[in-house]
Amino acid sequence: NKGLAIKDLKVEYKSGQLALGQVDLSLPEHGIYTIIGPSGSGKSTLLRAIAGLLPSYQGQILFNEKSVHEKETLIGLVPQNYGLLPWKTVHDNIQIAMKITHTASSSKQERETQIKQWLSSMGISDLAERYPLSLSGGQQQRVAIARAFAILPTILLLDEPFSALDAITRETLQVLFLENWMANPTTTLFVTHDVEEAILLGQKIIVMPSNKETTPEIIDNHLVFH
Ligand code: ADP
Ligand code: ADP
Repeated sequence: NKGLAIKDLKVEYKSGQLALGQVDLSLPEHGIYTIIGPSGSGKSTLLRAIAGLLPSYQGQILFNEKSVHEKETLIGLVPQNYGLLPWKTVHDNIQIAMKITHTASSSKQERETQIKQWLSSMGISDLAERYPLSLSGGQQQRVAIARAFAILPTILLLDEPFSALDAITRETLQVLFLENWMANPTTTLFVTHDVEEAILLGQKIIVMPSNKETTPEIIDNHLVFH
């Protein structure tokens, strides 16, 4: 059973707020799965649970039959607000992420070549020495996505990455994201509140229920082209 398996996941915040009541999902490796659902239905909480950012949860989250929190599963997260280090250049943001996750080559020359390729793949070669806060939202998001792919994650999580962008920038980034994903087809969960985006990107669409007693519904998307 290769892929991501979520079994009886339940998350209650310390405040007593039930964020996820009952989540059972089985998703094959190497797909993009979009997650839609009303505000408060637990979409962000689901990503946080997978990313290991919650102090606790009930249930199991497995990748290829092992806990996702084991060392061999590397999880990349792209938050809505880009999550870049503001006091580091674009180049260094990517380099630091690769070093921390041990995905950079140890030879300096090879590492620089890798970073150049990731920047080029997102069309931001000319921004390498810029600082994040001097960039537009769309440019920062390109950096965040380049960085996420650069660490070669086993699971890639994106939390409404394009919601804050204007329509044209959003469409450009959707295409760039898909091109990069097809070259690196990692198992991807993509939260969006935009149904069109969910249909454009997701091989399966996960619909979070507002009623926390039921598990999310999975819809196979036959319109997706990848
Ligand atoms: P969504 O991303 O679908 O909007 P969230 O996962 O953000 O949903 O939230 C699910 C529920 O958990 C909501 O009722 C929200 O208010 C609550 N919640 C989210 N984060 C926290 C937190 N850190 N502490 C307490 N309650 C939270
Ligand atoms: P998102 O749905 O993208 O997480 P939110 O606006 O729901 O955005 O949450 C923003 C931040 O506030 C998150 O860190 C979340 O954990 C926290 N949060 C959300 N709902 C609650 C809540 N009911 N109590 C405490 N913290 C919350």
